[in-house]
Amino acid sequence: MLPFQKVSLLSHLTCSNCGNIHSAFHTQTLSVCCQLPLLSHYQINNSIQKEDILESNTTLWRYAALLPVLNPANRVSLGEGLTPILDLSKLAELHSFHKLSLKDEGLNPTGSFKARGLSLAISKAKENGETACIIPTAGNAGVAMAAYCARAGMEAVVVMPRHTPDAFKDHCLAYGAELLLIDGLINDCAAKVKALNENRRYADMSTLKEPYRLEGKKTMGFEIAEQLAYDLPDVIMYPTGGGTGLIGIWKAFRELQQLGWLANDARLPRMVAVQAAECSPIFDTFSGKQTNSKNYVGRPTLANGLAVPRPIGEPLMLQVLAESNGTAITVSETDMLQGVLELSSKEGIFVAPEGGAIWAAAKQLLQSGWIRSDEHILLLNTGSAQLYLDNLKDLWQRTND
Ligand SMILES: *Cc1c(COP(=O)(O)O)cnc(C)c1O
Ligand SMILES: [Zn+2]
Repeated sequence: MLPFQKVSLLSHLTCSNCGNIHSAFHTQTLSVCCQLPLLSHYQINNSIQKEDILESNTTLWRYAALLPVLNPANRVSLGEGLTPILDLSKLAELHSFHKLSLKDEGLNPTGSFKARGLSLAISKAKENGETACIIPTAGNAGVAMAAYCARAGMEAVVVMPRHTPDAFKDHCLAYGAELLLIDGLINDCAAKVKALNENRRYADMSTLKEPYRLEGKKTMGFEIAEQLAYDLPDVIMYPTGGGTGLIGIWKAFRELQQLGWLANDARLPRMVAVQAAECSPIFDTFSGKQTNSKNYVGRPTLANGLAVPRPIGEPLMLQVLAESNGTAITVSETDMLQGVLELSSKEGIFVAPEGGAIWAAAKQLLQSGWIRSDEHILLLNTGSAQLYLDNLKDLWQRTND
């Protein structure tokens, strides 16, 4: 017998490329077979009911049965998850949307949904006996890892582009992380991490290379379903960088189908990957401008989270767009700022530029007719504006000019 009550139904991992089975019970990175992301599988059967959600737990850990941490004592939590879905009735009326809502991930610990993934990844690292972690980041993931490592008593090394706003760097330092600044984008940071970690001294928390950040982000999908009484929206607008959230939300919907918690005839939402025009590898592949993003060169954008030029999860993202009848779209820097200002001044929600981008994209898709006038559109705002203030300071001026 285990010395604790096992709540997790985790059974094994599979290679997302070839389907080979891998163990879920020791530290894993990319699949050894294909060097691609691993996906977690659970012993899903009808012994688990909606009522088994731990409703007394008001964090993402309420879904513990479908999360990979085996021993509850290993959970490293700062209260992440269960963020509100807010009605945007004023903006809906102004722009002729039938129903518009926003899930506000900016309310998570450390100001973004990266808290979900890093809570899971650091908990699982603790369960696997790791004591030091390293991460390449565009900003928010580094801040979140620094906080969760502090909480867990682990050493943290964060590798970030030099041009990232200072607030991201200051937060990492305040949490006690070692901070390395790199000239370039997140893929250059990833190369640095690889070089620094050849002796595997650190657990590598790179998204999708570490298998469980995905499982943390998956909980957004569980929450959307639960909060909307299992009546899913028609469209989900998602600001896509590495794609972990897009892939995770879709994985959640598939698991809910397997559980039988969604109506049999219920159509799943169409997923929209929103990218910055300055860095749009998924848009370019989706729209046939390139066969894949292996040689894509991106530029920095105010939405740092979207500056991921060569995401390893590209095939999984394209699969989600195909299976969901979704699409990909780009937004200019000006339009995303206009989007931030409109959400803050009209609805009182001060979103990150990534959030501004999805709102700008929703308006474009309504105009083009891709979004129909009778549909429920959910904006998934991934972060708060707080850490971006350096870059947003003259937003009011700029947009008034
Ligand atoms: C990381 C990040 C994104 C991109 O998330 P992925 O799930 O990796 O695509 C979007 N918005 C914000 C605020 C982020 O920090
Ligand atoms: Zn494989």
